[in-house]
Order: sequence, then C-alpha cells, then structure tokens
Amino acid sequence: MTDEQRTARLAILGSGPAGLTAALYAARAELKPVVISGVPAGGQLLITTDVENYPGFPEGIQGPELIDRMRRQAARFGAEFVDDNIVRVDFSRRPFLLATGTSGTVLAETVIVATGANARWLDLPSEARLKGHGVSACATCDGFFFKGKELAVVGGGDTAMEEALFLTNFATHVTIVHRRDAFRASPIMLERARSHPKVSFVLDTVVEEVLGKENVNGLRLRNVTTNARTELTVGGLFVAIGHVPATEVFQNVLALDAEGYIRVHEETRTSVDGVFAAGDVHDRRYRQAVTAAGAGCRAAIDAERWLAEHERPGSSALATSAPRVVSAGPHSRSG
Ligand code: NAP
Repeated sequence: MTDEQRTARLAILGSGPAGLTAALYAARAELKPVVISGVPAGGQLLITTDVENYPGFPEGIQGPELIDRMRRQAARFGAEFVDDNIVRVDFSRRPFLLATGTSGTVLAETVIVATGANARWLDLPSEARLKGHGVSACATCDGFFFKGKELAVVGGGDTAMEEALFLTNFATHVTIVHRRDAFRASPIMLERARSHPKVSFVLDTVVEEVLGKENVNGLRLRNVTTNARTELTVGGLFVAIGHVPATEVFQNVLALDAEGYIRVHEETRTSVDGVFAAGDVHDRRYRQAVTAAGAGCRAAIDAERWLAEHERPGSSALATSAPRVVSAGPHSRSG
C-alpha cells in the first residue's frame, strides 16, 4: 500500500487491445498516458490461445504474446504502466481521481475507460478445468480448431444462435442446450438456427458436468422438468450465456445501460465530459480484439482533441473546475 499520487493528462483504465491501442496513440501524441492495467493485465486475450484473425499475423499469434507486443509498443513511446486494479473513481471533481488497490492514486485530466467485459461462465469446476481444452466462450476465436467435431453451445440468446450457426462451418453437428423452452434470441436468429440442418436443440436442460480428462469428450446433462440425466458426446463446449461488463466501480458515476455497459454518445464520450470509453466495456455487438483496438484509437484521438480544446497552454486550467455531466441516460444499471 502506498499513498503515492501521480498526475497525468490522460489515464487509461484497462490493458486489453482497446486500452493498449489508446495508450499507443496517446503516447505518440506525447500525452504521456498512465495505464492502470488491471490485474491480471491484458484482458480476455490472456485466456485465448491462437489468435488467427488479428490482421498482420499470417501464421497467427498467441493471445498473451499479442498483448505483450502491444504493451511494449505503447511503452516504447512513453506510456507508463501501473499494474494494479482501480478500486474507486471520483469523476465529480477535476482533475479526476482514480484510486488503485495498492499503488496510490492518479489525478488525471482525461480518462479512457477500457476495462472490457468478461464472458459469463456456468461456474462448474469441470468447465474451469477444461477451459482452453475444448471449453470456449468465443466461436469466432476458437471455432476453427473444432473442424469435423460434434459440438454443443449453451444458451438461448442471440449469441448462442450466432455461435451455433458460425460453428456449423466447422462442426459436423451443433447441439444447442438451453435451460428453458422459451428463448431470448430474436425470432429471426432462432429461426435460422432451427432451420439449419446441422443444428438441433435440447431444451429445459442444464449442463451438470463437462466430461473429459484432458480434452472435452462429452457433457452430463440434466432435464430440469424430469430430472433425467443423459450424456451427450461432443468434442467441444461453447458457453454463450452472456457477458458481464467490468463496470462495478462506475456504478452511479457513469451512465450505464440496464446490463451495466457504459452508454456512449458521439462515438466515444461517456456521460461525464472528459471521460471516454473504448472496447467491450461499451460494445456488446462486435467484441473482437481488432474492433476493440480500433475503438481505443478513436478514444485516444478524441481525448487528445478534448485536451487541446480545454487546456490552456502552460497551466493546469482544468484543476479547479467541476466536470460537465452530459445526458447519456441514467447513471445506473436500471435505465
Ligand atoms: P442474453 O440475451 O442475455 O442471453 C443469455 C442466455 O443465456 C439466455 O438464454 C439465458 O437463459 C442463458 N443463461 C444465462 N445464464 C445462464 C446460466 N447460468 N446457465 C444457463 N443458461 C444461462 O445474452 P446474449 O445472447 O449474449 O445477447 C446479449 C445482447 O447482445 C442481446 O441484446 C442480444 O440481442 C445482442 N446480440 C445481438 C446479436 C445480433 O443481433 N446479431 C448477436 C449477439 C448478441 P434465460 O433465457 O433462461 O435467462
């Protein structure tokens, strides 16, 4: 624990592709950004093995290596890293105050929030043990590795339908396992899945255990209406039961939507003037490393322009003013 206090023109929260790309652009604009990386640093790519859809790597690249390269690239131009978590923010004062777990506080004139989102998991011990060995939460990332296999997707929303349909490009068959017999998925997505010859449904059913020693070879299922247990032989399980944005510390601080994603307006701006958002923390649609990187670039450019408009040369003109709160929806998860 330290009471060290740093000052920064720009603080970036998060060190996935969005945060690190924002850091690279901001560092090259000589803003000397301070990146509060989160622990473990690196975001969802850290739990991804081969990344084959990030442009520029024709042979593919391991997720952790891609993150390491992005971080070194940003550091080369002067980005500074604080490997800690954000535990509290105060955006009602300026400069904005960011309190970390053990590394003191940062006072920043602008902030880019790039804390990402995490896949929601079933929370089964067998699921955790086989993550990366047949259990995945991203068909776009990992589907290619399941060529010729029978697969299962858990979930009843649009993501589950989309993942299942995408996986038919590789799999011999895809079984969608859903805990009810009604769906959150939009009718059109549901109909596409229903009419696909390679897709079938097992309803009113939950996964009790993922089977397999080193790799997934099946699922133990339980029908929730009859309690009957069955086994389904599959070579992989895709969990598609939603994502949880990492926005705990921004509740009642920034406008969030009903599921906790940051609301943005004018591309990257949040409800607090001078605070920007990039990547999965507000993007529930694309969720790709490359789209997050693009969002980080945009937020850095917007933050740089914002500073140019608001700072007076040679002074910390922002130090005493209260930030303007703009309407981007309610400041709670209920809106
Ligand atoms: P979602 O709509 O919240 O659906 C999550 C699904 O997972 C639900 O069917 C839910 O079951 C199930 N689920 C949740 N927790 C579970 C658990 N512990 N065990 C078993 N099942 C569980 O999430 P999403 O599908 O990720 O979609 C999120 C948003 O993105 C939606 O607004 C969606 O429309 C949008 N989206 C759009 C597209 C598109 O337009 N192409 C594609 C993907 C996502 P219950 O229904 O029983 O709660």
